[in-house]
Amino acid sequence: MIAWERNVVIKNQEEIEIMRDAGRINAKALQAVREAIRPGVTTGELDKIAETVIRDHGAVPAFLGYPGPTPYPATINSCVNEEMVHAIPGKRELKPGDLVSIDCGTVYNGFVADSAFSAGVEEVSPQVQTLMDVTKQALEIGISKMVSGNRVGDVSAAIQKYVESFGFHVPREYTGHGVGRSMHEGPQVPNWGLPGRGMVLRPGMTIAIEPMVLVGTYRTRIQPDQWTVSSFDGSLTAHWEHSVAVTKNGPLVLTNL
Ligand code: MG
Ligand code: MG
Repeated sequence: MIAWERNVVIKNQEEIEIMRDAGRINAKALQAVREAIRPGVTTGELDKIAETVIRDHGAVPAFLGYPGPTPYPATINSCVNEEMVHAIPGKRELKPGDLVSIDCGTVYNGFVADSAFSAGVEEVSPQVQTLMDVTKQALEIGISKMVSGNRVGDVSAAIQKYVESFGFHVPREYTGHGVGRSMHEGPQVPNWGLPGRGMVLRPGMTIAIEPMVLVGTYRTRIQPDQWTVSSFDGSLTAHWEHSVAVTKNGPLVLTNL
């Protein structure tokens, strides 16, 4: 492991393979949550499902105890509708038509995997479906730019351009990030920026790419619980994320099944 500039850590092949293992466990946890999403289920119940899968694989939830205004108390972030990131699971019951975004992290053999998806609860409106589709596709576009020799700004600008072509918005103050032994390493990878700017990507960099998309505004607000970040205007938001390695052979998604 080589320490690079600005807290960027280059991983060797063996370390990337451990991160792939962590990513697979994290993907299983997210899949179990996805299968449990239905009207009446509480976000707290979804949280227990994710925690059980992670611990059954000898891994540990990465978000649990994460430092913040108060140590983060759960395994997942469970965001509903206008909530964008960092919502704490609890007694809230999902309703038909809700848009839910689940973010989850796993630590396995000392390395972190970080991934998120959005899904509808039963039937959603065409607008919600479009929002989810655009956010997922923005992630795919960002991943496709994770090529050695590209710069961070190439990833950021591609995501921003695609999202804004639908009239949607990206937040300014929440970003993708390097991931490895720590959940947040360098470089930061915003969902907005200029092509050709920023750090050059090189093999061994592992980065969580995470488009967050808002319907009405790029502005956000933090709720009184000090954790939940919502759209400023109460409009809908979605969030997709994968941890991805830059390799000689192109981008390698670490958090697929
Ligand atoms: Mg995440
Ligand atoms: Mg992340």
